[in-house]
Amino acid sequence: MPASHGSPPNGTAQPGTDCEVAIVGGGPVALVLALILSRAGVAVELFERAATVERDLRASTFHPPTLDMLDELGLAGDMLAGGLVCPHWQIRLHPSGDRAVFDLSILAGDTRHPFRLQFEQWKLSELLHARLAAEGLARVNMGAEAVDIAQDDLGVTLTVDHGGMRRSMRARFLVGADGARSMVRTALGLDFTGMTYPETTILATTTFPFEAHLDGLSNVSYCWKDGGNFSLLRVPGRWRVSIYPREDLALEDQLAPDAIEAALQDIVPRPAPYEVQEVRPYRVHQRIVPRYSHGRVALAGDAAHLNSPAGGMGLNGGIHDALELAAALTDMLRRGARTERLELYERRRRPVAQEQILAQADRNRARMREKDPARRREILAGLQAVAADRTRLHEYLLRTSMIEGLRQAALVA
Ligand SMILES: Cc1cc2nc3c(=O)[nH]c(=O)nc-3n(C[C@H](O)[C@H](O)[C@H](O)COP(=O)(O)OP(=O)(O)OC[C@H]3O[C@@H](n4cnc5c(N)ncnc54)[C@H](O)[C@@H]3O)c2cc1C
Repeated sequence: MPASHGSPPNGTAQPGTDCEVAIVGGGPVALVLALILSRAGVAVELFERAATVERDLRASTFHPPTLDMLDELGLAGDMLAGGLVCPHWQIRLHPSGDRAVFDLSILAGDTRHPFRLQFEQWKLSELLHARLAAEGLARVNMGAEAVDIAQDDLGVTLTVDHGGMRRSMRARFLVGADGARSMVRTALGLDFTGMTYPETTILATTTFPFEAHLDGLSNVSYCWKDGGNFSLLRVPGRWRVSIYPREDLALEDQLAPDAIEAALQDIVPRPAPYEVQEVRPYRVHQRIVPRYSHGRVALAGDAAHLNSPAGGMGLNGGIHDALELAAALTDMLRRGARTERLELYERRRRPVAQEQILAQADRNRARMREKDPARRREILAGLQAVAADRTRLHEYLLRTSMIEGLRQAALVA
């Protein structure tokens, strides 16, 4: 995606400021925030270090309430057209195929999108760039690295390095949506409390049609296998296979083509070798900042919280942050709310991140790492009982589809 510089935004900046909201980072959370604010007439300028959208292997799962939100922004149609609907997901014992299947249609009364959508994160970023450029709203600066921030009572000064040229600009508020290694979080002196899990997970993609070989497979399937586990996440045209590493082999050895081939043959044995498109190792963290804002600076998305991808909640939670933060910023910029309004943003979003997203992702990871066959059977039987009971299934899916967290947040005044 080329750098896009939209025409001047509709919002009016305060004299002495260059824009009303400066956003550091150009990931999907930043871009969603930029779109909402600029459509509300707020003058937004966004700075992304990378020159283009990176088409890397990151989020693929969008949950029902996130689809409702993105639909309000006019994006869900394109996402549905370019994604894969996932009406159910499952936890499965491999190779027997015994499984608990969670049918999301039970959420029909709770959401306009009672399914998960498998759609790559970079595709959403590209859609958002296209919308921002087409509507000529926020100024989006690509290849622009934020290097310093300083704030006072009236605003924030941001210093940006753009191809070796430094410039400083003033904004009334600044948002750090600059990901896991957030410069903004560091500049605020905030800890990122938590831990990094010991394992490095390996993600490989292949066009091999697992759905034709594994009976009743869902487009999102978390699987136990003898002594280990893997997950199969389908996106249009390919499957993403998360291979949980073996403890008896060095990571470099597990990343070798032969080892990836062996791991895939272990899932579905076949005479021909697998065609593997990409392989990516990644570390998994569980971390959260103690505060989501400091004065006129707020954090959102991975800059504020990180969790295991198990359950697909990190980006979804970041998008939920973006909506809540956009409401706080427009209240302050357009309705005279005081800067303390950012504290309500934190009270609404931080407990949900901690109690729902991080905790659930941690439980999901722990469940799939269970190795004892008897305990697995017990867990599976419990999950099958949930899936078979409409009341319990509804409750379970409200929680795992992130609807409960949003309802909890909405009650916070
Ligand atoms: C393998 C994997 C699978 C995942 N699957 C899912 C899933 O299915 N569902 C889900 O919800 N989540 C998932 N996640 C999590 C998801 O990818 C992240 O939560 C998401 O990327 C967070 O978006 P963000 O915009 O907050 O941060 P990022 O996407 O990290 O974007 C931050 C941006 O800030 C830029 N930046 C950093 N520093 C600066 C600076 N100083 N100046 C300017 N720019 C800067 C970076 O270049 C980057 O583009 C997954 C993660 C991984 C690793």
